[in-house]
Amino acid sequence: MASFPLTGGCNCGAVRFEVTAPLVVAHYCHCTRCQRRTGTGASVNARAASGTVRISAGRDQLRAWKPPDGREKWFCRECGSAVFSSGQEFADPIGIRMGAFDQDPGVRPSAHYYVDYAPAWDEIPDDGLPRFGKDRRPWGKRS
Ligand SMILES: [Zn+2]
Ligand SMILES: [Zn+2]
Repeated sequence: MASFPLTGGCNCGAVRFEVTAPLVVAHYCHCTRCQRRTGTGASVNARAASGTVRISAGRDQLRAWKPPDGREKWFCRECGSAVFSSGQEFADPIGIRMGAFDQDPGVRPSAHYYVDYAPAWDEIPDDGLPRFGKDRRPWGKRS
């Protein structure tokens, strides 16, 4: 059982955050942007309930890549760690990169999204979770 607030941050410690309520859902994203953003085959993201994410340190260290047709991807400008995704100007829903948490955040991934883009070298495990190609979008628009 996770205790609240959950805490987390970037590699260099400049950016720190808290989540004050249970996370809503988590999923794997296999899209090309997540591959490039992370240098890996997929990323795991947890959605926070509205109004439950607080930047406790380093707000001025956060920078975002804002693709014209997608959600903002926030990272630490010092160490490059990916921390959040969000709507415009850090609007809800905020997604938190699962690897950024200090502790077990409580939720478990419940689906694989954008599996049509998964790289050939990263086979998706046979974990029984539902898979969505490219038509169903976890955030309502392109992630
Ligand atoms: Zn950092
Ligand atoms: Zn993605």
